[in-house]
Amino acid sequence: MLEGLNMRKCLVIIVVIILMLQLNACSAENEDERQKGETNTEMSLQEIEIVFFNAGKADCFLIQTENSVVLIDTGKNKMGEQIVSYCKEHEIEHIDALFITHFDKDHVGGADAVLEAVSVEKVYEPAYFSESKQYLQYIEALQVSAANVETLQNNTSFVLDGVSYKVDIANKSDYGPDEENDFSLVLSVQYGEISFLFAGDAENQRLMELLDENVQKHTVLKVPHHGRYESTSELFFKAVSPKYAVITSDEKNPEDKEVVSLLESFGTDVYFTKEGTIYCTTDGKNVSFVQESFVQEEKYS
Ligand SMILES: [Zn+2]
Repeated sequence: MLEGLNMRKCLVIIVVIILMLQLNACSAENEDERQKGETNTEMSLQEIEIVFFNAGKADCFLIQTENSVVLIDTGKNKMGEQIVSYCKEHEIEHIDALFITHFDKDHVGGADAVLEAVSVEKVYEPAYFSESKQYLQYIEALQVSAANVETLQNNTSFVLDGVSYKVDIANKSDYGPDEENDFSLVLSVQYGEISFLFAGDAENQRLMELLDENVQKHTVLKVPHHGRYESTSELFFKAVSPKYAVITSDEKNPEDKEVVSLLESFGTDVYFTKEGTIYCTTDGKNVSFVQESFVQEEKYS
């Protein structure tokens, strides 16, 4: 009788111990799950947006993260007003960095209007001078603006709100006649696993420099010089091997067909800003493109 009672007690204790072990195991699993969850939250990045404006045969791109705004080129003169109204609509009161890749009117044209209307913290420009009207307007606006200007004599890089920016400057100070395009700053922008190469208006000699410097693969290429074909185009596209390409041409000044067919032969999806402003979003892993489906390039010519 006593033995039977002891046996039952023992059984109850064993059952309780088993239950306690199981409960512990459960809470350990929950702990694991929680930790995994936390790690996942840390790993996944905020979505950022890159806008490729429909600005005619001209360059103007805006990179917006939760806490930063970067503008790469400003299109032609009239594009300045468009950028200012875009900033108003999107409650952008401050631009952290403005890159002027070079001083041609289709890149620096809207800079004066932007500098006059929006607070710009830092301007990065290439190290040469121009005499064009748009350049002089830009210089005048800079003098009034509180922006800090850095005339790049060397390559530079920085990280802003989790996005890495690497700027490659022209190696030479002389590229022969009609040389301004080859002074283009070339920007590599990296966010997580996704990268963008903004190649300005780089022509043959500048593309050769980039190849010599072992230009890296990029997810998205802003095709150099509005889609103009160069003898180095094929080598350059091969080296960059973009999944997506953006061409900034217009109906009056179309891109070269060879450029599009080369890119397509490498399996690249080609987008044209002349078909509408392109909104690209990425979380550092995935990338998606949405395009406005109307053409208004006449507005900016
Ligand atoms: Zn251009």
